[in-house]
Amino acid sequence: MPHHQRPDAGYPDRAASRSTPRTGHLPALKAPTAVVVGGGVAGLVAARELAMQGVQVTVLEAAADFGGCVARHEVAGFTLDAGAESFATRSQAVSGLAGELGLGESIVAPDPAGAWVQLPGSAQRLPKTGLLGIPSDPTDPQIVAAIGRKASLRAAADRMLPLGNLLGKDQLSLGELVRARMGSTVLERLVTPVVAGVYSADPDVLDVDSVAPGLRASVATHGSLQAAVGAMRKAAPAGSAVAGIAGGMGRLTEALLADLKRRKVQLRASSPVKTIAKHDGGWRVASADGTFDSAGLVMAADGVSAVTLLQESIPGIADLKPAPGPSVALVTLVVDQPELDAKPRGTGLLVAPGVEGIKAKALTHATAKWPWLADETGPGSHVLRLSYGRAVGQAGTAEDFTGWPDEKLYRQALSDATALMDTPITDPDVLGWKVVRWVGALPSATVGHRDRVAQVRELAADGSHLQLTGAWLAGTGLVAVVADSRTRARQLAAELKAAAPSSS
Ligand SMILES: Cc1cc2nc3c(=O)[nH]c(=O)nc-3n(C[C@H](O)[C@H](O)[C@H](O)COP(=O)(O)OP(=O)(O)OC[C@H]3O[C@@H](n4cnc5c(N)ncnc54)[C@H](O)[C@@H]3O)c2cc1C
Repeated sequence: MPHHQRPDAGYPDRAASRSTPRTGHLPALKAPTAVVVGGGVAGLVAARELAMQGVQVTVLEAAADFGGCVARHEVAGFTLDAGAESFATRSQAVSGLAGELGLGESIVAPDPAGAWVQLPGSAQRLPKTGLLGIPSDPTDPQIVAAIGRKASLRAAADRMLPLGNLLGKDQLSLGELVRARMGSTVLERLVTPVVAGVYSADPDVLDVDSVAPGLRASVATHGSLQAAVGAMRKAAPAGSAVAGIAGGMGRLTEALLADLKRRKVQLRASSPVKTIAKHDGGWRVASADGTFDSAGLVMAADGVSAVTLLQESIPGIADLKPAPGPSVALVTLVVDQPELDAKPRGTGLLVAPGVEGIKAKALTHATAKWPWLADETGPGSHVLRLSYGRAVGQAGTAEDFTGWPDEKLYRQALSDATALMDTPITDPDVLGWKVVRWVGALPSATVGHRDRVAQVRELAADGSHLQLTGAWLAGTGLVAVVADSRTRARQLAAELKAAAPSSS
C-alpha cells in the first residue's frame, strides 16, 4: 500500500502547545519528519536518536529483516549470530546503548583462553598484549615462538630505529608502518591474520589512522611502535578488548526494534529505496513500498547504495563512490565432538597467509568463546564458525568464496575445522550446518579514507538536512557505527529544530 507523508518543517514544542489554549485558529504543531534509509544498526540507532529528540521517523529497509550485519539464524535448533558476534570495549558506545535498551545485565566477557594463530607448519597462542596483532614486546617468548628469533630481533630494533619522515606521510597504510618499524615477518605472521579476520582486508591497503586511530601520534610520542602499542593497551579499559551479549548480538537488534516501536517509529522492511530527490525544501524518497516525503534524511545504507541514491541530489558525490567491500562466506557447524570440550585452540584461530590446504581465514570456536552458548549446547556439543574470503593486496579478494555452492563450502569447512582444531570433525559428527554470505558488507577503510569521508561530509552539508552514516564512513565495527550514527542523528535533529518556524 503506497504511503505518502507530507513534508513538514514544523517542530513540536510540546510545552508551548500544552500551555497555549486551544482556540481552533492555531494549526496543530507537528513534529518534524525524517526518513532513514537502511535499517542496519546505523539506521536503527539514528532512528532512535531522532525519535528521542521529538522527530517523527520512518525507517526503510530493503531486506525482509532489520539489523543488517547484526542478524541471527537457526542452526541445529540453536539461535546463533549470523554476522557480528561481539563488540569492542575500547569505548562505551555499544555497552552504553545496550544498557539503555535494558541489556546491561546481559553483557558478557569472552572466555579468557584467547585466540590462536595458525601459521604455516604450527599453531601458536596469539599474545594478548598487542594491537591488531602488533606486539608490545617482540621479545616475548610467545612472539619468538610465532615469528622466530631473527624476526624477533628485527622487530625489537623498532626501539632503536629513528622515526625518519614515515609518520609525516600524508597517507600511511597499516602494513607500511608495521613493515618499516618491525619487519615483514611480524606483518605476515601476526598482523595480516588478525586484520584479515576482522576486516577481510590486507594491511597494505588499510588506512592506519582509520583502523588504529591514535597509533600514529602515539608512535611519535613514545618513539617506537612497540612502546606506542604498549601505551595504548595500558590506556584501554581493563579486561577483554571485546564483549558480547548473552543470547547473542542479535538481541541488540531485537531490543532496538522493540524500543523504536515504543517510540512510534514507522518500521518498513522489504522496502528497498529506489530514488531520492530534493523536494519542497525537504526530501522525497521512493521505495518499493511507496513514496515518503520528509524534512530530513538519514542515509544509512552501504556506501555503494548510498552514493548511487544520492548522486542526482548531491553533485560531486558520485566521484566518491566507494568500491564494494570484500565479501565473506560464513559456515557454521554444530557438531557433537567431546574432544572439543578441552578448547584445543582457545576461542578459535586466525589463519596466516600461506597455510597449505586451509582456505578459511578464521575459525571461531563459539562454544569455547561464549560460556552462555556452551551452557545452551551442553557438554560434547560445539559451535564452530569458519569464515572465507581473504582480500589480498590492492587486487581485492583472491577467491570469491561467496560464489561457491553451500555443499562445497560445507565440505571445505569440515576439512579446515579438522586441520585447524587438530581434531577429527566428520560428517556424522555434524548436528547441523548453515552457510551465510555477506556480499560487500565489510567496507574497507583504505588509505586516504579520512580525507574521502571529510569530502563526503562536506558535500552533504549543503543545508538540505541530510546526514550520512554507516560503516562505510564510520569504519567497520559496531563501536564506530553506533557512535557515528548517534552523532549524525543528533546533528540532524538540531538542524530540524533550528529550521522549524517559530511557534510564537
Ligand atoms: C560477518 C560479519 C561479522 C562481523 N563481526 C563483527 C563483530 O564481531 N564485532 C563488530 O563490532 N563488528 C562486526 N562486524 C561489522 C559490523 O557488523 C558492521 O560494521 C555494522 O553492523 C554495520 O552496520 P551498518 O548499519 O552501517 O551497515 P549494515 O548492517 O550493512 O546495514 C545497512 C542496511 O542498509 C540496507 N540497504 C541497502 N540499500 C538499501 C536501499 N536501497 N534501501 C533500503 N535499505 C537499504 C541493507 O539491507 C542493510 O540492512 C561484522 C560484519 C560482518 C559482515
